[in-house]
Amino acid sequence: MVNVEKSGAGSINMKGEIKDIRTRKLLNSRGEETIEVEVDLGGVVGRFSSPSGASVGEHEAVALPDGGVEESISLIENEVKPRLLGRDAHEQFEIDSFLREIDGTGDFSRLGSNASTAISIATAKAAAKNEGMFLYEYISVLAGYTPSMPLPLGNIIEGGEHAGEGSTEIQEFLTIPVNPPTVQDAVFANALVHHEVGERLSNQISSFGGGKGDELGWVAPLTTEEALGILNKSINKISEKLGFDIKISLDVAASEMWDGSVYKYRRDKDRNTESQIEFITQLIEDYDIFYVEDPLDENDYKGFSKLTEEIGDRALICGDDLFTTNKHRIKKGMEIRAANTVLIKPNQIGTLQDTLKAIEVSKEYDCYTAVSHRSGETTDPAIAHLAVACSEIIKTGAIGGERTAKLNELIRIEENGNIPVAITGD
Ligand code: PGA
Ligand code: ZN
Repeated sequence: MVNVEKSGAGSINMKGEIKDIRTRKLLNSRGEETIEVEVDLGGVVGRFSSPSGASVGEHEAVALPDGGVEESISLIENEVKPRLLGRDAHEQFEIDSFLREIDGTGDFSRLGSNASTAISIATAKAAAKNEGMFLYEYISVLAGYTPSMPLPLGNIIEGGEHAGEGSTEIQEFLTIPVNPPTVQDAVFANALVHHEVGERLSNQISSFGGGKGDELGWVAPLTTEEALGILNKSINKISEKLGFDIKISLDVAASEMWDGSVYKYRRDKDRNTESQIEFITQLIEDYDIFYVEDPLDENDYKGFSKLTEEIGDRALICGDDLFTTNKHRIKKGMEIRAANTVLIKPNQIGTLQDTLKAIEVSKEYDCYTAVSHRSGETTDPAIAHLAVACSEIIKTGAIGGERTAKLNELIRIEENGNIPVAITGD
């Protein structure tokens, strides 16, 4: 039996009654405070700690109330816990609706979406254990999907809000193996590219000191074209060695560059919407880019739609800040085909129920979904299970403790579950 998060204790407490809820303040990977919640069914315990973003979308739920984690904890103690004790942890959607109702603000600004997400996912973990199921199995039953192994997007070179002034302007230069024999091979391919790029940067840039960004991508003073050039050479070498293709992907995080009329580039000329669309289209063509996230500002549905129309048959155009895992924003965007891929971050919306609704709407519109980590992560592996349960892609870094917690969990799930890879073919 491999060590995927699961307990064999399926019949300790068949009803799954919540006997206790415990909370604590602990660290995320940036050394900031975050909340952990344990939902205890009388010995069967589900635990989840929430991550936090740095390039936070304007339309996201509010991660922490003004009083921080302490305020979330006191609200849980005084308002949530008394009303959840005694309820059945298997009533996931009722509990999630109830959290929204207790919060009462619509954007979790009172309770904090990190608190609601932690309660929600901890509840699902406890119920899964209580059923003797893996979390991915439990979520796939809850959502009604067949599990599949997602392809991993690995962050290789990092800039923007996750690094500093001297870094690249595009926030993330990523790689994604296509047609790997297994997801384990894909995970190692991204790590090998990461090593290869590190070596090339050391050899080529005398001022490079091996610095890394929040998601453990390399930080270096490169123009967009220089970063893509190094990445291109590295993927060619590693893919030849491994015998399968590896493609380049980007998270532009363009809202961070948009000043209301132009996209501001520190190392390059400013671009208006039209020239930003041309720029991205050209990069996709020149570097055979597989996936581009947030190429335009978070309110520019029309620009996204234009870009998707132009190049969406050649690349995945993904909305993160545009959609914020919000089914209403996804629906609105899909009416004009603003993207063909949707990023999924549970704490952008605040509950597992709302996360699954976002995935459901995306699938209704024939979009891929990519389950994603945040830049300030915890070591919790649950998003690996969520991705296996209902997504084609997982975006959770290439190396580093809190990132490998998810990647290694994917490897365990794959070994245990005999689950096919989600995306195959070109
Ligand atoms: P965040 O950004 O976790 O810092 O918000 C990651 C991303 O933009 O995908
Ligand atoms: Zn993003």
